[in-house]
Amino acid sequence: MSASVANQIITPATTEPGHNLTTSVQQIDARHHLHPFTDTAALNRRGARVMVRGEGVYLWDSEGNKILDGMAGLWCVNLGYGRRELIDAAKTQLEELPYYNNFFQTTTAPAAVLAQEIASVTPGDLNHIFFANSGSEAVDTLMRMIRHYWTLEGQPQKTLLISRDNAYHGSTIGGTSLGGMTPMHRQGGPFLPDIEHIRQPYWYGEGDGLSEAEFGLKAAAALEERILQLGPERVAAFVGEPIQGAGGVIMPPAGYWQEIQRICRKYDILLAADEVICGFGRTGSWFGSQTLGIEPDLMSMAKGLSSGYMPISAVAVGDRVASSLIEKGGEFYHGFTYSGHPVAAAVAIANIRTMKQEKIVEYVADDIGPYFQQRLRQILAEHPLVGHIEGIGLIAGIALVKDRARRTFFAETGAAGQICRDHCFENNLIMRAVGDRMVLSPPLIISRDEVDELCQKVRTCFDLTLKSVR
Ligand code: PLP
Repeated sequence: MSASVANQIITPATTEPGHNLTTSVQQIDARHHLHPFTDTAALNRRGARVMVRGEGVYLWDSEGNKILDGMAGLWCVNLGYGRRELIDAAKTQLEELPYYNNFFQTTTAPAAVLAQEIASVTPGDLNHIFFANSGSEAVDTLMRMIRHYWTLEGQPQKTLLISRDNAYHGSTIGGTSLGGMTPMHRQGGPFLPDIEHIRQPYWYGEGDGLSEAEFGLKAAAALEERILQLGPERVAAFVGEPIQGAGGVIMPPAGYWQEIQRICRKYDILLAADEVICGFGRTGSWFGSQTLGIEPDLMSMAKGLSSGYMPISAVAVGDRVASSLIEKGGEFYHGFTYSGHPVAAAVAIANIRTMKQEKIVEYVADDIGPYFQQRLRQILAEHPLVGHIEGIGLIAGIALVKDRARRTFFAETGAAGQICRDHCFENNLIMRAVGDRMVLSPPLIISRDEVDELCQKVRTCFDLTLKSVR
């Protein structure tokens, strides 16, 4: 077990005698570290797991446990841990020019070349790239850009943005307002006005007894109804994740996105795809929009852009919006100190080039994606806890149910999911629970043997969960 960096930074001055690496870090963490999306009191009682190293699809914690990362970090470490190409790109750039910005008539080679690299893989005419640092910032950028665009087009009253219940678009005020996560809306408001939510296309859980195709059309029709209620002249854009990720991996029924797109075009409403999870190969195309047949006017992206090695995100803007912003807009009063940060950009270039060289997108589409989906379904076939499995490429969501034949959910949503997540934790598998949906999103470089191991671990944890809930 190697934990050299952790051992270097934990000095006698930072900890108390008698503690080992794990307890030292936990002690410092409990005193000073407020964790994101965490019940801090509960965490402090338990003590955080201390991750120290990663290689491929595996992580090691400070106790020497080897852990299979079924989530690629937070849906982001697409090329896996320990990639030399990305590490060397960061080192070289840090030594040469660790920082300069892209404000005030300057640029850097990494920022310019990364914009070109992104444009080389985006669909259609999404050729103009604005940089930010996180998915949330990319979403906020997209929101401001869309409204600014309509003002430039002489329609400043077009401010309404429509999103969906249970959508996740980040946790800034903009992202939280646009997202449809009820627990988030209960904290830290008031949120932004002029944002509307329609139902999500969650057929298995909310399908109203319809066939999948019928339900897809019904869920999309909710957009048209809302547009007509609000007045099309006031609606600026519809924003959606191609596949809802953090909401539990909700695959929209076939035909849903085509209908959404038809409605947007009919009422001259922009369509924006939030590709923060689906982008960069996850679904077997460079972007989820390509897999699902969406032709967006704008796309936000982050995570897989640098395989999570550096915080960097971007908005890709199509010709329609970009030409207005460029030709009519003058200065756009928006940007971040680290927009297009040269070290993050250098890593992202290395990431995209490695993905191209190793044909990672093709590997997900034609080989490992179908293998993963098939193995998962095989190993969980007839499992009493499993109601439904959905997903494509290397992303999957599994609904845990009380009674699979009757399609009955557990009375207390989230309890079974949490039990299952805890069994995964104990069994050195990282799998996330979203309510009672278990989700997987492993690194894209995962091998067939590793998929087998992953699926076997999932099966073991589901069997243990079944014993706990029955
Ligand atoms: N948009 C989507 C679709 C996401 O899944 C996420 C994060 O999971 C975000 C935005 C926010 O990204 P970040 O956490 O980098 O701000």
